[in-house]
Amino acid sequence: MKTEKIAIDKRGYYGEFGGAYVPEMLHANVKELQDCYLEVLADPAFQKEFRSLLKNYVGRPTPLYFAKRLSAKYDTQIYLKREDLCHTGAHKINNTIGQILLAQRLGKKRIIAETGAGQHGVATATVCALMGLECIVYMGKLDIERQAPNVARMKMLGATVVPALSGNMTLKDATNEAIRDWLSNPSDTHYIIGSVVGPHPYPDLVAKLQAVISEEILEQLPEQTGRKLPDAVMACVGGGSNAAGAFYHFINEPSVQLIAAEAAGLGVHSGETAATIALGKPGVLHGSRSYLIQTDDGQVVEPYSISAGLDYPGVGPLHAHLAATKRAKYFPVTDEEALKAVVELSRLEGIIPALETAHALALLREIKFKKEEIVVICLSGRGDKDLETYMKYLM
Ligand SMILES: *Cc1c(COP(=O)(O)O)cnc(C)c1O
Repeated sequence: MKTEKIAIDKRGYYGEFGGAYVPEMLHANVKELQDCYLEVLADPAFQKEFRSLLKNYVGRPTPLYFAKRLSAKYDTQIYLKREDLCHTGAHKINNTIGQILLAQRLGKKRIIAETGAGQHGVATATVCALMGLECIVYMGKLDIERQAPNVARMKMLGATVVPALSGNMTLKDATNEAIRDWLSNPSDTHYIIGSVVGPHPYPDLVAKLQAVISEEILEQLPEQTGRKLPDAVMACVGGGSNAAGAFYHFINEPSVQLIAAEAAGLGVHSGETAATIALGKPGVLHGSRSYLIQTDDGQVVEPYSISAGLDYPGVGPLHAHLAATKRAKYFPVTDEEALKAVVELSRLEGIIPALETAHALALLREIKFKKEEIVVICLSGRGDKDLETYMKYLM
């Protein structure tokens, strides 16, 4: 496995973003992870088990698909990296497989997680069933109501779903509850964070587990195009894990443009938005320093997006760094633009994307590529979980 493509220092900073801001009671847990994660990731026995499960359980490598009709429409060469074909329907399981193997090596018996749309909750409940470990998923009460099918899936898999009743009763509040649980059960519990957020080492750990996405693109692209590198890689950013995985092996290749979409909700200046990089200022949330949508006196602003998976007021510190250094570009995309992109991909390619993913697809209308340029889009997940929303807005 290729690693060390991203400059992160010993304390978990990418430039001025990152770090590990945790309560005293969790220092030991976080330190344990910091001390062991690189060694575990490099261990051949871990790699063997991880790779075997990715292949035979998740269904990797996922296809790199040339989208012919979409390419004709935008007069360029568009390839879709099909993470929607992973077991459970999104890229999230790449990370939960890796973290459950790490938790086993640490002797943890109890797994906790937070979830928004329920995709990370389902991916966590799935690997807990696979390994026979207890699983508790925190989820905002509002999200439990609006994402009923994923709540049912988690229960089928044997997980306990606990409602978070504070704040907007969405992802941020579920994360607060998960951290509270970890504080009360530090010794036997591993917290599987679902994106490249949280205290060091989580952002780096999750990025390295998701890096399989760009590792496969590097193998598949030459076979299909005769070219070693694409001209651009695009992805949507909530916390930023599918984008981190898709960008990872291209970060030190300056000829490859890195382009991401964040959720603008009803519009960047509407007050109903989750466009963290457009609006955020440096601050600390859930254990790391990054951009954060906040008031002048530092209160977190409740975010909004039609897509529960992007409805978060922060962003992973790696992305804050890539944005600050201008290595990657971040564009806000509204609910309406995303919904248009959902219909377009469904009708042109016979693929119904997740709402989150549609934010990345919507950028094709905004960014003009040359005819011969190769653009890889990370198709982070499938749209089954969003059908009710699609019916409501589109039919
Ligand atoms: C959770 C999710 C996202 C957003 O999370 P990232 O960590 O930013 O990748 C994007 N797409 C899908 C399909 C998801 O389930």
